[in-house]
Amino acid sequence: MSSHHLELTKPSHQVCRLSIRSLVILLCGCVISFSAFCAEVIGLDVTHPNSGAQASFKLSEKSKFSHFTLEKPNRVVIDIKGAKGTVNYRAKDRDDLIQRIRSSTPKTQQDSRFVLEVAELVDYKITHVTQSDGSYIQIKFDDPQPSAPIITRGQTQRDDDIVIAIDAGHGGRDPGSIGPTGTYEKRITLAIAKQLQKRFNAEPGLRAVLTRDGDYYISPSKRPLIAREKKADLLISIHADAFHSPKPRGASVWTINNGRAQTEFARLLENKSRQSELLAGANTVITQSEDDNASFVRTILDMTKDATRKSSYDASDYIIKEMKKVTKMHKKERQYASLAVLTAQDIPSILVEVGFISNPTEEKNLNWSKYRQRLADAIFTGVSKYFKIYPPDGTLWSRLENTSNIQHVVKPGESLFKIARRYDISIEQIKQANNLKRDLLKTNQTLIIPRG
Ligand SMILES: [Zn+2]
Repeated sequence: MSSHHLELTKPSHQVCRLSIRSLVILLCGCVISFSAFCAEVIGLDVTHPNSGAQASFKLSEKSKFSHFTLEKPNRVVIDIKGAKGTVNYRAKDRDDLIQRIRSSTPKTQQDSRFVLEVAELVDYKITHVTQSDGSYIQIKFDDPQPSAPIITRGQTQRDDDIVIAIDAGHGGRDPGSIGPTGTYEKRITLAIAKQLQKRFNAEPGLRAVLTRDGDYYISPSKRPLIAREKKADLLISIHADAFHSPKPRGASVWTINNGRAQTEFARLLENKSRQSELLAGANTVITQSEDDNASFVRTILDMTKDATRKSSYDASDYIIKEMKKVTKMHKKERQYASLAVLTAQDIPSILVEVGFISNPTEEKNLNWSKYRQRLADAIFTGVSKYFKIYPPDGTLWSRLENTSNIQHVVKPGESLFKIARRYDISIEQIKQANNLKRDLLKTNQTLIIPRG
């Protein structure tokens, strides 16, 4: 990875006086003493009047610019010469013509590139305007034709459901760890995976898929690929821990550490043909990027990777919080490991060690269906809470986000206490919202769960 980062040395005045092309980026670093060398984007104004739309970039001084358009997705790309500055604008209204304006990687480093993502590629005029308060580059978009076809934007093609891939650790010729009375880890992990899958599938808007549903072998590195094939939004790998002494017990939750992620990432960059395979989501952007230079690809990959890692962290913390309620934790904080199953660049991935199979008490517990259900429920609740806060765009849950209530269908054996705990509200709140006089619930009864 060493060659990919541009080392910037602190510019000295002598360097700044040299107007060598390759040193312009250093000149821009001397903005105080040499401000004449580069303009800065100091503001962005986006308006959607009754017809058309307008974006204007405010500049510290007049600069040359060039522009071009791209399709799928529709974009207008503007390069401002010798300018610096970044912007990030997102439309609040889904119907706005200008959906997003972001900074991108320019062709030459002394320029700035801005990408306007638009719902439709209508005609536009781009002009330089000097006003009393400064210099502007204005882009005016014409009114789209009323008969224009409806544009479906990026995410709408995805599944309505949030897809969770559950990976039962080991299998087939690989039994995993073996407990003191001969319990195979591969059997425990599959049993929990199936119980967990049932839980997810009973919830509208969530769907769980298994990487394996029987006793056969899949290599650890193949598992993220299966999750990707199934278009998973999250991968949870289930394992049971073991130690050479019977004493240690408790659960732990793991995510990838930076070292492994970076190694995988470096390999990914070297192997361009695998980029599309590994980056289902970011792929569209990469193959259709305005210029196919490595730094642009790297930026997108970087962003994907960072977002994935952040999501893995967030989701693990929700799971830990719930697991603490039903089992002792061997580690109370999220743990990091270099594990092949966690290396997906674009799918948040978590490994849950449900307990120590080498500990006689936990081995006994893990063989007990009710105990496994408790663990599955905790993982389910943690994941649900995470996705309630971070629903992927285009899913049913992302549309529920703004409604005030959720409907809950009572499952066999569910109590008010259990439901209240799951949604983090009081029993009284549920009773009030549903006009319940008694605590007794009927299976399949629909409850309104008040939110916020
Ligand atoms: Zn294992």
